[in-house]
Amino acid sequence: MLVLLPALYRDVIIPALDRRDRHMANAVLVIDMLRGFLEEGYPLFCGEQARRIIPNIRNLLQQEMEKGSKVFFICDRHDPDDLEFKMFPPHCVSGTEEAEIIPELSDYPGEVITKNRYSGFYKTVLEERLQAVRPEKLIVCGVCTDICVMYTVADARNRDYEVEDPTDCVASTNEEGQRFALDHMEKVLGARLTGGE
Ligand SMILES: [Zn+2]
Repeated sequence: MLVLLPALYRDVIIPALDRRDRHMANAVLVIDMLRGFLEEGYPLFCGEQARRIIPNIRNLLQQEMEKGSKVFFICDRHDPDDLEFKMFPPHCVSGTEEAEIIPELSDYPGEVITKNRYSGFYKTVLEERLQAVRPEKLIVCGVCTDICVMYTVADARNRDYEVEDPTDCVASTNEEGQRFALDHMEKVLGARLTGGE
């Protein structure tokens, strides 16, 4: 028995603990925290209220990284002639400063995944990456709550991921859009809202 114990630890108990730890890790999707949306002067600046989520996202990333969660920066990036510019003024064109992650978040380790439509899943490698990570749940934060955050959450829920949305880490250009999207994500898409508000 005494001889067997170390083997039991090595072969059964430690791998089980390992799996448990891996399973506990989350994936954090940081949506569009780019200079073009968070810095005044760019055509799609979301406003000062959006800048207030920056320290909250920093705290969230710190906490999640300590748990071993994986961070993905989902970043809007367009060709100069993208058809999205029929709806919106040209923004976040590839290679411009506007398309960069804001300096307050750019030092955090995470994988950058670019997208050119609202959802972080549409024609991107996100799904493939998540299949490899097998996170316990997705935590989705960033801007805009009622556009790219909400459509990414919808696509995540269609793939049966558990989604958590920390309300102090998402922002929209206007209060009405913020309220509508949080309500819709909770009641229709089945995301769990966490944090204040
Ligand atoms: Zn865009």
